[in-house]
Amino acid sequence: MSGLDDTHDPALRSWVESANDPATDFPIQNLPFARFRRAGSSEAWRIGVAIGDQVLDLCLAREQCSWGRVASAWLVPLAAGDLAAFMALGPGARRGLRAVLSVALREGSDRRAALEACLVPQSAAEFALPCRIGDYTDFYTGIHHATAVGKLFRPDNPLLPNYRWVPIGYHGRASSIVVSGTPVRRPLGQLKGPDDAAPHLAPTQRLDHELELGFLIGSGNAQGEPVPVTQAEDHWFGTVLLNDWSARDVQAWEYQPLGPFLSKNFATTISPWVVTPEALAPFRVAFERLAGDPQPLPYLDSPGNRAAGAFDIVLEVGLQTARMREAGLPHQRLMQSNFRDSYWTIAQLIAHHTVGGCNLGAGDLLGSGTQSGPGEGQGGSLLELTQGGRQPITLASGETRTFLQDGDSIELRAHCERPGARRIGFGCCEGHAIAAVKPL
Ligand code: CA
Repeated sequence: MSGLDDTHDPALRSWVESANDPATDFPIQNLPFARFRRAGSSEAWRIGVAIGDQVLDLCLAREQCSWGRVASAWLVPLAAGDLAAFMALGPGARRGLRAVLSVALREGSDRRAALEACLVPQSAAEFALPCRIGDYTDFYTGIHHATAVGKLFRPDNPLLPNYRWVPIGYHGRASSIVVSGTPVRRPLGQLKGPDDAAPHLAPTQRLDHELELGFLIGSGNAQGEPVPVTQAEDHWFGTVLLNDWSARDVQAWEYQPLGPFLSKNFATTISPWVVTPEALAPFRVAFERLAGDPQPLPYLDSPGNRAAGAFDIVLEVGLQTARMREAGLPHQRLMQSNFRDSYWTIAQLIAHHTVGGCNLGAGDLLGSGTQSGPGEGQGGSLLELTQGGRQPITLASGETRTFLQDGDSIELRAHCERPGARRIGFGCCEGHAIAAVKPL
């Protein structure tokens, strides 16, 4: 399951000099995919691969070089901007293309002259969603988040008894998923304070973010045919950052008995870059249960999942208010956590999602749920960081926040690092709140 090969060699360098900067998210060991075009142009969307601060345009690269019969076939959908068609080919194509691109982008490659003309600075590119998102499911794998939020909503009964047995999730809304940089309009919803006789319609006063990862499905499964946990990762194409925007006051009133609805369905932001399982391979870690917790049922268990089914990914959230932006202050880091604390692994989520026969398809998206850490100050949402709005956060500008105000920008970031491996990152997932429409 280690999956390491020469594309992971930490000593590999690229002829794209910015990819050799130790601080870059996109060294030659990463090579994530995005759908992009030159900013302001009307050219067709195409798929690119990040290398340093550049994008390798696979539409141009297909024309500029000869790639051999097999790789040329892989490049056809990518040149046409159809990542889902490539995703549906499964892990073999993805691994094969990674090997080919790694060689082409290495120092000393004879393709350099041809491919130099296929680079676009990321700062001169605009990005779209990586593919059409088919169905979207949001899980709830952050046990520290589930416990903290459970305490706020149900002080005497924070973690329901099914949590340690079932990977909890709900079917979300795919139509309102947007790419990083898209403004998020403050939603209207039914609000009802504890002392109000009746609810009223108004813009949410408790707009919040949720720090999550999103897992894009590549090859699907047929309806009625569960995916065994041992094969589940073959259906996982890649990972993005995901912000599950949430209206906490709407949620508190509507969530029983069927769970979140309008409090979650107005917007979900994902990052443009899709980081592949191959890029994450050096950062696998053992999946372990806390002593005293039940072991997963057999359909959610395998030796491979136990040995290396979890991933060491550092996650963080930054906040920048409009006033901070005007003053030239960067996003202020609110917290950090790690995906290795997730209660379930990616393989378990896919195995569970399909065990009843549900079919997944290329471009389906599974959210991880909010990844809060075990410690104080590691909440992956403002709801947790402010104790349900009772303890405001003070920012570098002197402003305070409980929940988000119009003009506030939230930025999610993630990276992986360990001795003996090259550090990789996920880029950025940004969204900013804009004023609600006038109440109806
Ligand atoms: Ca969520």
